[in-house]
This record gives sequence, C-alpha cells and structure tokens, in this order.
Amino acid sequence: MSILIENVAKTFGQFQALSPLSLQINEGEMIGLLGPSGSGKTTLLRIIAGLEGADSGRILFGERDVTEVHVRDRKVGFVFQNYALFRHMTVADNVAFGLQVLPKKQRPSDAEIRQRVSHLLDMVQLGHLAGRYPAQLSGGQKQRIALARALATQPEVLLLDEPFGALDAKVRKELRRWLRSLHDELGFTSVFVTHDQEEALELSDRVVVMSNGHIEQVDTPEDLYRAPNSPFVFDFLGNVN
Ligand code: ADP
Repeated sequence: MSILIENVAKTFGQFQALSPLSLQINEGEMIGLLGPSGSGKTTLLRIIAGLEGADSGRILFGERDVTEVHVRDRKVGFVFQNYALFRHMTVADNVAFGLQVLPKKQRPSDAEIRQRVSHLLDMVQLGHLAGRYPAQLSGGQKQRIALARALATQPEVLLLDEPFGALDAKVRKELRRWLRSLHDELGFTSVFVTHDQEEALELSDRVVVMSNGHIEQVDTPEDLYRAPNSPFVFDFLGNVN
C-alpha cells in the first residue's frame, strides 16, 4: 500500500508540532522517521495511523483518501514502545485480540482465529509461550508478541513508535534483523519512529530526517551517509568517523 501525505500540519494550542509537510511512501517500503526528541516524529506517525487528526492536508492510502477515516477503519497495525500488551491475557489471547474485536462481518471463526494465532506465534518463534502471561516474558519476547498482535489482521501498513527503544543493545539488534526479514517476507509498507541514527540507517529503505516539525531530508541510508544535510545526522556521523 502506498501512502501519500500532502501538506499535513498540526498545532497543539499555540505550538506548531508539524509545519505543512508532504511525503510520498512507496508500496512495500520501510521508512524510518529520524530526528531529535520533540521534532514531530510521533505526531506524524499518529496522524498516519488516524490516532490523531491533522489540522489540514490529506492522507491517501493508495487511491483512498483516509484523512477523515477512523483509526479502526484504516487497517493499520501499530506497535508501541512499551509493548502495550494486556497483562491479564495470555500471549495467545493478546495476539487474538485484534481479530476478536473486528466487526462481526469481518471476524474469522473461532477455529480460524486459533489457527491464525498459532501461525503468527510460530512466525515470531514463540509458539511455546502461548499460555504464558506478559509478566512472564522478557522485553524482547514481549515486543515480538506485540508485533504478532499488530500483524494478526494482516495490515498492509505497519506503524511502529520507537519499537526497540526499551530494549538492550543486543536484543535491539536481533529484533531489527528479525523485523526487516518479516517485512521482506510479508511485503507490508512500514513506517517506524526512532531517534537512533544507527537503527534508521540499518533498517530503512529511506530515512526521513525531521527537525522542529519539518522534514529536513529524505534519502536512502547510503545517500544520507554520503551527504547528511541535517546537523542531527551530521553530528552523529562526525562522531563515528
Ligand atoms: P518526537 O516524536 O519527535 O519526540 P512528538 O511528535 O512527540 O515529537 O512531539 C512534537 C512536539 O509536539 C513536542 O514539543 C511535544 O511536546 C508536542 N506535543 C505532542 N503531543 C502533544 C499533545 N497531545 N499536546 C500538546 N503538545 C504535544
């Protein structure tokens, strides 16, 4: 699913969190939104998801104008930094949740839901934990379950807000590799927020560098590395060399 963001702006009270900005995301692309804290990354992601309304502008998913479409009907998967799993539900019930709350006409039968959950748990290699509760899992396992839950409804767009921010370096690296291979296998379009330059460069097809509610640069990791316009990226690369 391609995504077109056209002149989208957002203010909170007097504060302009996003200046009118535009961005074209191609079908099947993985886009990293990179920038310092407060640059507007999460606001843009939430507007794409429909969790937040824009003040002006349009959002298109393919040919479909979704600007006024409720989050429930945008058919996106969303992964939060802090996993947001339901504590009182087992792993299997957490993954099934998105399917069980579908409107009746779209909801698969209980048998189909069980089958799909088992397939998703196999895909994230956590089938053996189906009966556990979130408190019994490590951070990396919780985030894999959150990803399985987000993918349960087979969204064409997967949105992730700092998905690995709470994990230690080794687990982050593993999960990045694993997210990228899942993305390549299933073919969904994906946008993730990060303030970690290394993560953006390693995982993205193109990186969108944001600052003060603007888009400063959109480039492939290679081109960004060669010619960083943004002081935020430049400082980082400068430190590495
Ligand atoms: P980032 O994800 O890049 O850290 P955000 O999109 O979360 O940035 O925030 C951009 C700016 O908008 C910040 O200054 C933040 O304080 C402000 N902001 C975000 N959400 C709200 C809100 N619900 N109410 C008021 N201000 C907000």
